[in-house]
Amino acid sequence: METPENEIFRDSISTVTDEGKRAWVYPKKPEGRYYEWRKLVSYGLLAILFVSPFLKIEGNQFLMFNVLERRFNIFGQPFWPQDFHLFVIMMIIGVVFVVFFTVAFGRLFCGWVCPQTIFMEMVFRRIEYWIDGDRGKQIRLNKMPWNGEKIRKRTLKWGVFFIISFLIANVFLAYLIGSDQLLRYVTDGPASHLSTFISLLIFTGVFYFVFAWFREQVCIIACPYGRLQGVLLDNKSIVVAYDHKRGEKEAGRAKFKKNEDRPSTGKGDCIDCFQCVHVCPTGIDIRNGTQLECINCTACIDACDKMMENVGLPKGLIRYASEENIEKKAKFTFSPRLKGYSAVLAILISVLVGMLFLRNDLEARILRLPGQLYEHKANNIISNVYTYKLVNKTNKDIANVTFKLLSHKGTIKVVSHERFSVPQQGLAEGTLFIELNASALEGDKDQLEIGVYSKEDLIETTTTAFLGPRSYN
Ligand code: SF4
Ligand code: SF4
Repeated sequence: METPENEIFRDSISTVTDEGKRAWVYPKKPEGRYYEWRKLVSYGLLAILFVSPFLKIEGNQFLMFNVLERRFNIFGQPFWPQDFHLFVIMMIIGVVFVVFFTVAFGRLFCGWVCPQTIFMEMVFRRIEYWIDGDRGKQIRLNKMPWNGEKIRKRTLKWGVFFIISFLIANVFLAYLIGSDQLLRYVTDGPASHLSTFISLLIFTGVFYFVFAWFREQVCIIACPYGRLQGVLLDNKSIVVAYDHKRGEKEAGRAKFKKNEDRPSTGKGDCIDCFQCVHVCPTGIDIRNGTQLECINCTACIDACDKMMENVGLPKGLIRYASEENIEKKAKFTFSPRLKGYSAVLAILISVLVGMLFLRNDLEARILRLPGQLYEHKANNIISNVYTYKLVNKTNKDIANVTFKLLSHKGTIKVVSHERFSVPQQGLAEGTLFIELNASALEGDKDQLEIGVYSKEDLIETTTTAFLGPRSYN
């Protein structure tokens, strides 16, 4: 089927030429109220990103994702592999929230919160404007032969880009291995931790590649979230949109003539100045409609508002709006689809809150030693051997720990010490014997309930199986 003429732009992406080469985007420096707001939000988020691994709450790193040692801190609260189910629920909540948010507000996340956009537009791009100048100067510089000016500017820009990439890689590592470890590596010097240093350089190279060269291609080609837009957005979703009804009217868009009274001409309010296109970091023309490449960065809103102000027309020709709002002037409504997502989200959050409240400070696991049956001892005593593992998730040592049988009469003998401590954020493991009188057994495999006590306080209960001879059934 042949593509309709007004949809031909969808057959190719804006950053690839007809010959299949990269069409480099030189966006004009944005200015306007949205850009100022975005700067504030971005620098606030960057501060949080850079400070979080170095901030501590009761000795715990505020945010840490130590995948190698499987230790995670969220808002200063340590999580262990034993809390994996909580992670799964958090991930599901994250996915539902993103879907819900996208259905309602399109790619608001991409424009305002995504680290790729923040680093690209608010850090690297601003450095580029500072060194190379605005769009026109950048295009001229690129066409220039390698003279003194170009060599100086390129060396400075690439040098600064490399330093920032190196800094980002360090922060990234602080999230992965913990800031204490990172600072220790820094004071020890790279030679003492060569493999980590090489990883750091690889991370630096990746960040440098992404922000110095790959840029908007991340959003267009690599990001799976961008690809999901087609199925998540509907005509009620609020996105950065061009009001084609107002912009085109009966006579279509047209250049603005000096002292023209546009409303009386029948022409659309779009004065075809291309400012919205020049300012776009993904190189698209928003007037073609919602497109995969649009990251909802609002730069075109600011650019168009400025032009509208200059020619005395109302602002908001490009604005946050839904298709329905533009077509029928309909206000935002909470659609049944959104209601459904909200209900699922509310249920999941309630489950998570409940599980967080029920989460124990101490995790106990007592398992029968593999390959061992039972031992029949004097006085009709049956003995089973176990391994135990206690994980202390708190920041305080748990002292004077003992085990007691809660479900049966019998004894628990911990090998080598009767009472022991579980260190803060650590574990204690060992071997123990449980001895029961055979007459207390109900079958050849009884479930025992065991209490874990600190001093005389019951702090956790756990269960385990106890094997006995069949004849006692
Ligand atoms: S079309 Fe507008 S909102 Fe979308 S990426 Fe381009 S400038 Fe940003
Ligand atoms: S900036 Fe506004 S007026 Fe200028 S081309 Fe874009 S939509 Fe039309």
